[in-house]
Amino acid sequence: MSYKDLIKKTAFEQHKMLVNKEVSSVELVNAHFERIEEVDGKLGAFNSLTRDAAIETAKKVDNKIKNGEDIPVLAGVPLALKDNMNMIGSYTTASSKILSNFVSPYDATVTKKLKENLVPIVGKANMDEFAMGSSNENSSTKPVHNPWDLNKVPGGSSGGSAAAVAACEVPLSLGSDTGGSIRLPASFCGIVGVKPTYGRVSRYGLIAFASSLDQIGPFSRSVEDSALLLETISGHDPKDSTSLNIEVPKYSELIKKEIKGLKVGVITELLSDGVSPEVKSSIENAIQKYKELGAEIVEVSLPLLKYSIGVYYIIATAEASSNLARFDGVRYGHRTKDAKNLIEMYCKTRAEGFGDEVKRRIMLGTYALSSGYYDAYYKKAQQVRHLIKNDFDKVFAQADVIICPTCPYTAFEIGSKVQDPLSMYLTDIGTITANLGGIPGMSIPCGFDNDGMPIGLEILAPALKEDIMMRAAYNFEQATDFHKKIANI
Ligand code: GLN
Repeated sequence: MSYKDLIKKTAFEQHKMLVNKEVSSVELVNAHFERIEEVDGKLGAFNSLTRDAAIETAKKVDNKIKNGEDIPVLAGVPLALKDNMNMIGSYTTASSKILSNFVSPYDATVTKKLKENLVPIVGKANMDEFAMGSSNENSSTKPVHNPWDLNKVPGGSSGGSAAAVAACEVPLSLGSDTGGSIRLPASFCGIVGVKPTYGRVSRYGLIAFASSLDQIGPFSRSVEDSALLLETISGHDPKDSTSLNIEVPKYSELIKKEIKGLKVGVITELLSDGVSPEVKSSIENAIQKYKELGAEIVEVSLPLLKYSIGVYYIIATAEASSNLARFDGVRYGHRTKDAKNLIEMYCKTRAEGFGDEVKRRIMLGTYALSSGYYDAYYKKAQQVRHLIKNDFDKVFAQADVIICPTCPYTAFEIGSKVQDPLSMYLTDIGTITANLGGIPGMSIPCGFDNDGMPIGLEILAPALKEDIMMRAAYNFEQATDFHKKIANI
């Protein structure tokens, strides 16, 4: 089979080929590196590659197969890590100048789990600096381009992870989602992206942005692949005190049950003003499809949704200002060359090392946390966050899952929103609320606009109900063809 056909296979298909000895893991890894060499100059999806480590893992898998040993289900199948996840010996830069020379001295828990499962890690994916952004234009190295149209953004902040999967540079990748950074790029790039329940996946070794919102999750070209990857990375971790000590269900089996009688809620607020007509009609078609599949459609309302973006930008910036205080030129990464004293060293290091968006957030967050303002901003935002959570509880008393557009519009032109941070922030109106509520959410392909750009359907579920959420996604996917179309680059 030519490498062009090989790379289009899903992770699970690649696994089956490995087990049937139709291909070796070294061949699989090499095929994907060939693809990376072919297209990544145009896409910019990778910050760095870890070819030797990937080949070493692939060889271990091939030996096991040769010796007739069983292999874990994702063993031997290539994967990319977002560049904010630590992996021993690799550059981990969070796409920031301040960490441009930082080499990880340890593995994140997700990395450790992937290694235990013999998943070859091919490299570190480009992202918005410190995961702050919706378009991947805030990377200090280079922007990522959307594989469906190189003039458009891939979405952010996990734009590299999403573009790499959409362009078949890898069948799997990991991203992180604080306000939509997995779901938005999945939607813009026409693939599957899952943000698990807060606490489902360990954050140990993930460079923190906003600790009460961050979650790691999978990207793939099929729902089944994401279910398999989520199974692989989930579970309790004593190194992350927010990680949940609850058994991990066998998602990849549970998703295959039918959805007759499933109550699917449609959020009325997210299908009204500001939604592009093409996105709206794709979502309406999806609603129709769910009816055909035997689901019961119920209209639900999240009246406090209008406060989500405001609440998020207080909480996320406040937590970021505190988390990013550690980048001071003393312990990590870049240090300014010419400083006369300690204070000047801190100031110059941070001025040189952080990009504009990161500085804006540190300033906003420091203000929100400052004495005299804390109660008015951070505390108030936390109170509204609680009310938003109550809204979700009410909605999930009526519906098993809820659906809405992942984003009111499709991928926009590179450069078109950089001068207007507020409009950039509004891109996340469909995704941010799930992080505030701590609930799982995912995006799957559900259509294309008139220019051929992908449209994403978001599915949300109550905390720890990833199985039901991915079941709703899997049933829709199996009844439609949108996921079969691959970007032509
Ligand atoms: N776009 C949002 C932000 O810039 C969300 C980012 C994320 O989920 N990491 O904060």
